[in-house]
Amino acid sequence: MKLIMLGPPGSGKGTVSEKLVKDFDLKHVSPGELLREEVQKETILGLDIQSYLEAGKLVPDQFIVKMIKVDIHDCDNFILDGFPRTLNQAHSIKDIPINMVVYLDVPEAVVIERFSGRRVCPKCKAGYHIKYVPPEQAGICNECDTQLVQRKDDIPEVIKERFRIYNEKTQPLIKFYQEKGIL
Ligand code: ATP
Ligand code: MG
Repeated sequence: MKLIMLGPPGSGKGTVSEKLVKDFDLKHVSPGELLREEVQKETILGLDIQSYLEAGKLVPDQFIVKMIKVDIHDCDNFILDGFPRTLNQAHSIKDIPINMVVYLDVPEAVVIERFSGRRVCPKCKAGYHIKYVPPEQAGICNECDTQLVQRKDDIPEVIKERFRIYNEKTQPLIKFYQEKGIL
């Protein structure tokens, strides 16, 4: 099964994917996570990527497409969580037969309220929300006991830019996949 998760920033693509990969034994392919890992390594490439993430901009298509294609090479069961995000990215995987695109249609007001409470585990990447998905022990990851952190791009100015880009570049994918009959 090959799935795509589509939805605005903070709509829960990562959270829902985590559940689906466990239930259906799929590979979780998250460009956001792969990019944040590269930033953590503090490589030259990581520094470059960091400037995009912290500004809420999309990392250039050419780079993302290569990264994802390497990750899903020879894989029959996966969830793409956060890819494609542009029509150009969608065209780049035209040759891969996607079974279904899951669109998380969450109103902007709800999503904005979620951001302030979002926390992530920097080690195992598990996602939480202080009110809606709280860890068993406040501020500590259930899975690996690591101190949870807030993402650097989860601050109001950056969130605003992520939404602007979502509306401009990613929203058109809804119609694109609707017309293919797989949304
Ligand atoms: P959520 O999982 O809560 O919906 P999100 O989708 O906003 O959150 P990520 O998917 O983790 O967050 O993406 C974080 C950042 O990584 C993006 O703002 C962008 O800079 C970069 N990024 C992720 N996926 C892509 C992509 N397909 N193309 C270009 N840049 C990307
Ligand atoms: Mg995510």
